[in-house]
Amino acid sequence: MKLIDTIYIDGAFVKPHGSERFDLVNPSTEAVIGQVTLGDEIDTQNAVDAAVRAFPAFSRTSRSERIAMLHRLHDALMARSDDLNAATIEEYGAPQARAQWSTRYAAEAFLSMATTLETYEFTRRVSTAEVVMEPVGVVGLITPWNANAGFICNKLATAIAAGCTTVIKPSEMSALQTQIVIEALHEAGLPPGVFNVVNGLGSVVGATLAAHPKIAKISFTGSTAVGKSILRTGAETMKRVTLELGGKSPTLLLDDANFAEALPLALSLAFMNSGQACIAGTRLLVPEQRLDEVIERVRTLIAAIQSGDPYDPATTIGPMVNRKQYERVQHYIRVGEEEGATLIAGGAGRPDGLTRGYFVKPTVFAHVTNDMTIAREEIFGPVLSILAYRSEEEAIEIANDTVYGLQASVFSSNPARARSVASRLDAGRVLINGVHHDPLAPFGGHKQSGIGREYGAFGLEAYLEPKTLLGSAG
Ligand code: NAD
Repeated sequence: MKLIDTIYIDGAFVKPHGSERFDLVNPSTEAVIGQVTLGDEIDTQNAVDAAVRAFPAFSRTSRSERIAMLHRLHDALMARSDDLNAATIEEYGAPQARAQWSTRYAAEAFLSMATTLETYEFTRRVSTAEVVMEPVGVVGLITPWNANAGFICNKLATAIAAGCTTVIKPSEMSALQTQIVIEALHEAGLPPGVFNVVNGLGSVVGATLAAHPKIAKISFTGSTAVGKSILRTGAETMKRVTLELGGKSPTLLLDDANFAEALPLALSLAFMNSGQACIAGTRLLVPEQRLDEVIERVRTLIAAIQSGDPYDPATTIGPMVNRKQYERVQHYIRVGEEEGATLIAGGAGRPDGLTRGYFVKPTVFAHVTNDMTIAREEIFGPVLSILAYRSEEEAIEIANDTVYGLQASVFSSNPARARSVASRLDAGRVLINGVHHDPLAPFGGHKQSGIGREYGAFGLEAYLEPKTLLGSAG
């Protein structure tokens, strides 16, 4: 049993004022493996005070000082990469390869932001004015459990590049991972108060940050429902917000695509991070005349996917993060069957041979229509819906018929056609003929998938305010 009973304020690990304990559970075994002491409103206030005190000096640090800090943070996290991988498997159930990827992703966020910072123009001439991009102030960073370390590091890297100080509210379900991240980042020796971390419940620590008058901005990644509540609460103090929310991303398989190459990629998009990914491609749109062929190919591909023990290198789908999430996925599988979709792989219950752990079967439904619940709501598990379309026009219409707009994918053997379809999709990011990622290009959602962008210069600008100076040229 591990006990996490400190939070991080003003450059030091301190006992929180809050005393409530929260169980940390290994989702593969359902065993309680630790507890975290939850911070409260007083802890949040102490963290905000530390960040406010640190802001005046930190906001005036130079570009080169911040770049050096970002490199130190990267190195410090990499020095603990084995520990972080182990905690990500134990506490979150990520398969080994995924855990390693997410640790690298977290560390590289600091380097990517250092690259952005090297060339970012903080001062520009606009007509007769000098425009200076200044740090927005103290920022609250709130992260979900599905890539806790990555979101902490990416948001913190951007805040540091901008010259903002921070209070971080990580997912309460990820305290072991958070602890390793903080211990690592502490070693980078940043000025006290630049980053403060308060473990705690969203309804307590998160809500206090969202309402706090000295927090200038919230960068939040999580569910659309909580994102809306932060937007409402933040309106009172006119907070800047970056909201990275849910998705129901479409994958469009055009009739000229190479199905043998595209379908394995479409499945990896659907089941990435054990299906617990905001960008998961959970609606696969295929030409009606080739539906039977798609179903046959998908059945064969699914048979080769292993859902189970995250320590087994052959596993690509680990457990759901907790019982609630397991039951949520089971619920949607039942709803899919009740609403008349055809189950072609997987289904309710655990994979064969597993009697405990929050493991689910990779599940695929065909003959799904876009009005069915499983096509409309974010399931956040490895459940894929196949929808048939009759024309390219109808495919685009179905793809865009959702409240979300985070990501979409298009597969076609004709790049110009794929590009043209991509231009008509309502999504913040469109992947063409592959699974791609670029940490310098903007990432974020259209519609109810969010507000604002992260990564690169677009992400950095979300932590800056332009100040126009007139008459300064002399
Ligand atoms: P969640 O919204 O329940 O929680 C996210 C964070 O918000 C947690 O730290 C939680 O404690 C906190 N929180 C909860 N209530 C709060 C409140 N009232 N005020 C302030 N903070 C509060 O989400 P989750 O279940 O942890 O994560 C899954 C969701 O995150 C999915 O909907 C997924 O699509 C989304 N997500 C989005 C992205 C993206 O980049 N767009 C990435 C990953 C996950």
